[in-house]
Formats: sequence, structure tokens, C-alpha cells
Amino acid sequence: MRGFLNTPDSSLYSGVLARYGAWMDLPAHTRPVTLLEGNTPLIPMPRLAQELGGGFELFVKFEGMNPTGSFKDRGMTAAISEAFGRGVHTVICASTGNTAASAAAYAARAQMRAIVIIPEGKVAAGKLAGAVAYGAQVIQIQGSFDDALSLVVEISERHPIALVNSLNPYRLEGQKTAAFEIVDALGSAPDWLCLPVGNAGNITSYWMGFRQDHARRSSGLPRILGVQAEGAAPLVLGHPVEHPETVATAIRIGKPARGEQALEAAEQSGGRIIAVSDAEILAMQRRLAGEGVWVEPASAAGLAGLARQLREGKMRLSELRGRRVVAVCTGHGLKDPEIIAHNMPAPLRLPARMDALEEAILGVSR
Ligand SMILES: *Cc1c(COP(=O)(O)O)cnc(C)c1O
Repeated sequence: MRGFLNTPDSSLYSGVLARYGAWMDLPAHTRPVTLLEGNTPLIPMPRLAQELGGGFELFVKFEGMNPTGSFKDRGMTAAISEAFGRGVHTVICASTGNTAASAAAYAARAQMRAIVIIPEGKVAAGKLAGAVAYGAQVIQIQGSFDDALSLVVEISERHPIALVNSLNPYRLEGQKTAAFEIVDALGSAPDWLCLPVGNAGNITSYWMGFRQDHARRSSGLPRILGVQAEGAAPLVLGHPVEHPETVATAIRIGKPARGEQALEAAEQSGGRIIAVSDAEILAMQRRLAGEGVWVEPASAAGLAGLARQLREGKMRLSELRGRRVVAVCTGHGLKDPEIIAHNMPAPLRLPARMDALEEAILGVSR
């Protein structure tokens, strides 16, 4: 790897390539483009663990704390660094939103042109705004995410345009660094890892990362619980979903590009892939926010799945006793503020008078 484009190569200023580049399979021409992604907090959630039955340790890996607000930045630094080092000037992706914002930001950093193709409707405002703010050319097609993905794959085969969807192997190389960070923080792998599954790049990356880590330093392997939304659950149903529907727009995907690998990760790890309802996702989003962690709806799916498994007795508290569970919260709540406006009460409106304020806060009137 050649020198860093925009950061001094010191541990104080380091993204995932600087920290874990030696463990990543990237070509020699790779030239790092970074926004100092990664190194996200692993937040203990003792109150939620207690509510779910207690006796185990629960942590949230809060990936919403990455530079553009989602885990996509880990993979994007790798994919853009490779394309940049190869001399490519244009990158393209299909996106439900977060990939678009991330690709746009890293392309801007490297002064490359970014084109993002989004499906009609249902892309959260905060994500679209991000892609536009970072200067990407945003094109909305009259079709689904899956249609958008087919188009970008074809155009990247015809022209010198780099595809930065998670079909790009370097995306996975970057995303697997989250597994290394979890092991670094806990001292060994957790017993369970819960995470949402959309196009299935992330579950594939975590499993790669944990296996590689285990091969190098015997850190152990987690069982993986992958969670889809009921209206977009091709891996649970066993067939593609033509018209996926869910409030969790980041996982509104009917034909996961890495579906086979996701099923393998679940099976090889002794875990499983399940589905939860939108109501369960939104309830868990509120529950997490009630403890100070605001995530976008898709990001609450992993924990909603854990809660459901425990409720239905498919995972037993006795099995979890003394164990450690990490839930990956993939994106920040700020990405999708409308969902809160739609599902939560509007603020109380009052005249600008002390008596009205006292009555509203203290329940007394003078
Ligand atoms: C992309 C994304 C997902 C889904 O990840 P996949 O790799 O497509 O399975 C989940 N949550 C958020 C916030 C995302 O941006």
C-alpha cells in the first residue's frame, strides 16, 4: 500500500486501513482514502439485558458513529482506496441510501466522480441528502433496489467505472474490521452476534473477520443471528421476494447479492437467520433510544430478533448465562428522522406563559 492521501500515518489519525491493513487482502496499488472511519463504540446495555431476562452481558456495536453515519464507511474506504490507486475516475453504486452517502463522501475525498442509483420512493431523506451534499450525481430509477443493482453491475462491466456495492470484494475486506474491533475490545469473540441482513454483505464480512481473527489469535467464534424484516425475508422464505416492503429501508431487499454466503455464515457458526415484524423493529428502536442510543430502524432488527428468540424460547436464558452478546447497530437514527415524526407524538404547543408551562410540566395551575 502506498502512502496515505489525506492523513498522517499515526495511530491518533487512523482509519481501518491504517489499523488493520495488514489483515486485509488488498492489491498493492491500493492508495488509502480515509475519513478516519471505524473505532466505533461498543456500548454496554445492562438495563436492556436485564429486561430481556438477565444473566448475560449485552453490548451494542454502534456503527452509526462512522463518518457518514453507517458501517458502510468501513467497506467504502477499502473499495475507494483500491479504485483510486488503480487510477479510476468514476465510481457507481446502487443503494437504499447509506451506501450512496458513503460512496459519495469517499469519492469526494479522492476527487472522484460518484454516481448513485436509487430505487423509486422509500429512500430515507437523511441518506439522500448526504449523497447530494457530498456532490454525487443521484439518479432515481423507476424500479426496485434489485433492478438498480443489475444496472450498475452491467454498466461497470461495459465502462471504466468502478462498482462499489458489496459485490466488490474490497468492501467485505473493509467491513470485516468491525469483527477485529469487537475482539480487541472484549479480549475474545462474543458468544452471539446479532445483526440485520439486507444484501448480506455485512453478515458475510463479520463471519470472514471472526474466522480470520480466530485463525490468527484463537479468539473464538460467535454464533450469528441474522435478522430480516418479515416483508423482505428472502433468506427465511427460501426464495426471492418480488416486492419487498418494510419500514427498515436499509434492509428492504428481495434478492440479496450474498444470500448464499449469509446462509453459510449462519449455519457454519451454529446460528440462524430469522425475520421480525416492522412493529418489533420500531419497538426496539424506541427501546434503544430510551437508553440513549438512537439508531435507524434497520439497525434495531438484530436486537428485535434476539428479543423474539428469547420470547419464543428458541434461545434460552440458561444457555446465555454468563455469556456475551453483541448486537450490531448498523446506522444512526439521524438518517431517517421522518420515521420518528410518523410514529411518535408531536410536541405540545403552548402559549408563551409561565402558568401554561408550569401546568404542562408540574401538573399544577395557579
Ligand atoms: C446496508 C445496511 C444494512 C444491511 O447490510 P447488508 O450488508 O446489505 O446486509 C443494515 N443496516 C443499515 C443501516 C445499512 O445501511
